[in-house]
Amino acid sequence: MLPVEEAIEIILNEVKPLGTERVECLDSVGRVLAEDIQARRSNPPWDNSAMDGYALRAADVVAASPENPVKLKVIYDLPAGTFPHAAVNEGEAVRIMTGAPVPDGADAVVMVERTEKVEASTAECSGEVLIKAAPDTGTNIRFNGEDFKIGQRVISAGTLIRPAEILMLASVGQPEVTVYKRPVVAVLSTGDELVDIETRPDKGQITNSNGYALAALAESAGCEVRFLGIARDTRESLTDKLTEAVEADAIITSGGVSVGDYDLVKDVLSELGSTMRFWKVALKPGKPLAYGVISGRPAFGLPGNPVSSMVAFEQFVRPALLKMAGRKAIFSTTLKARITEGVAIRPGRMNFLRAVLKTEGEEYSVTPLKGQSSGAITTMVNANAYIIAPPDSSGFGADETVHVQPFDSSVFMSTTTDYPSTARTDE
Ligand code: AMP
Ligand code: MG
Repeated sequence: MLPVEEAIEIILNEVKPLGTERVECLDSVGRVLAEDIQARRSNPPWDNSAMDGYALRAADVVAASPENPVKLKVIYDLPAGTFPHAAVNEGEAVRIMTGAPVPDGADAVVMVERTEKVEASTAECSGEVLIKAAPDTGTNIRFNGEDFKIGQRVISAGTLIRPAEILMLASVGQPEVTVYKRPVVAVLSTGDELVDIETRPDKGQITNSNGYALAALAESAGCEVRFLGIARDTRESLTDKLTEAVEADAIITSGGVSVGDYDLVKDVLSELGSTMRFWKVALKPGKPLAYGVISGRPAFGLPGNPVSSMVAFEQFVRPALLKMAGRKAIFSTTLKARITEGVAIRPGRMNFLRAVLKTEGEEYSVTPLKGQSSGAITTMVNANAYIIAPPDSSGFGADETVHVQPFDSSVFMSTTTDYPSTARTDE
């Protein structure tokens, strides 16, 4: 039997990132950037105020305090969106809003809470202000380019675009970006016993549940799905459906890879140009796996058992699809958790046990679910993680530390807030 790691290595050696395309900024979330982004402007674009208050010359108010305020002449108001039209000279101040450019001459801003307005006495000035604090030079000023400077590389090619990258793209004025293409994945189920989700199964028939699960998995990996439904276990039907499937960037089939059945899927894919390989991978559940490349496109023949096909997708298909989408970090990491009860395993294959992973104080705990048969869909629904037992493991005793691969983010979500406790302050 082929070790899981070797199967992954062979697959990934033959899979390459797809081409690139230009998309609108907002459509790039979840995609991988295929170009470096250089700042077309600096941030902040000018020295600006970090507070609502008064821009002034620090030297004018060195003696200022609440008991001995210093009076300055307010020469104008500077709301956000306006630009200073005159410098601040000795004895003067400008009323400034957060984000507004600091006028020439001013070298500090005193927040409005540390000032007191004196009503206007003449028409040409906005009045006077009493300053009750002595700021250092630079206080409450955000300086031009202190975040990033014009021409600087602010995001590197290969970065996964998250909302934070969208913030950066928008702030540097980048309405379009070059990203890796999203893989188009054909999903095909095979079997004479299968019916669609809308059809009530007759005797001997079952619903094509895999097709839907694999489509959902491919979507969760950021792919566009071509849902091809069911191919019958005949040469004609398989040829018909697989001809359509090879238009996609990747092909996923399920079923028909049991030892006796496999020849048919293999023959048809060979006729379509693929050299298919069939492996018994040392993986449980999910032993049989067919893999081939058709004109540069990977084809994955996953097992028919629903749970096996989902486990095989996570280990073999997801990393390949992520690599095609330009991602660098393509493997799901594992966490270490305390197993709450013992479990026995027959050694020989890398075993993926469906389990419930929870946070437990500063650590994680994990409980293997009852009913690990590869047909048990309820356990799949109740689980949020796989406990991974290496091939030589014959099980775990309660409280041992085990490797766990979460397959959704539920362990990182909570129905209540989870902040560190904080003392209340008045500010
Ligand atoms: P196979 O590999 O085709 O022999 O299928 C193995 C088992 O998985 C059989 O019990 C099939 O009925 C079941 N199976 C195959 N394809 C599907 C599918 N698309 N949805 C649900 N079960 C399936
Ligand atoms: Mg079958």
